[in-house]
Amino acid sequence: MYKNFLGERATIPSRVWGEITVESVELTDAVDGDLVLLKGDPFSAEAPLVRIHSECVFAEAFDSALCDCADQMHMALSEICKEGCGILFYLRIDGRGAGLSAKVKATALEVEGMDTHDSRISIGVSPDNRSFQKVAEYLVRNSVRKVRLLTNNPDKANGLKEFGIEVETASLRVPNPSDEVASLYRTKAEKFGHLIDD
Ligand SMILES: [Zn+2]
Repeated sequence: MYKNFLGERATIPSRVWGEITVESVELTDAVDGDLVLLKGDPFSAEAPLVRIHSECVFAEAFDSALCDCADQMHMALSEICKEGCGILFYLRIDGRGAGLSAKVKATALEVEGMDTHDSRISIGVSPDNRSFQKVAEYLVRNSVRKVRLLTNNPDKANGLKEFGIEVETASLRVPNPSDEVASLYRTKAEKFGHLIDD
């Protein structure tokens, strides 16, 4: 099913996260494939910590203040490292699957004050285009039947449950968010159904 299902693996020493094994796997339509970051032996855990993260080059490479993507990734890695075990799926679908050109266009509107839902509608792309089916299949193939998912997004939990994976969720919310991120949380709660407590 996967051109590269078993992928290539390398264990890299991270300055912050210690030793992390990265595996190249195709989990989306991303041209160069995606990455799975493995800490410890999550395939033997009863219910490993899991984060499904979509690449956000603005936050991760350029420290954009408009979103919390890099913070969420760091918080998830921190939780996983505290346990010494877990999986972070790094999906290379920046712009929630719509691509970088759409993301740049939508961002230009967001800087003018439009929210991330309406900006995408106004440029003719879906507010959220992602499918988590191949992530679920990856877990099943590695005999992971239950996970503790680090997310505020019920679509991610449901995307795994649909394929028979038992999911407990734990929220990931940046403490003391900036005004931009607080406004993003409101949009995500109101228009994307995210579970974010105030
Ligand atoms: Zn972002």
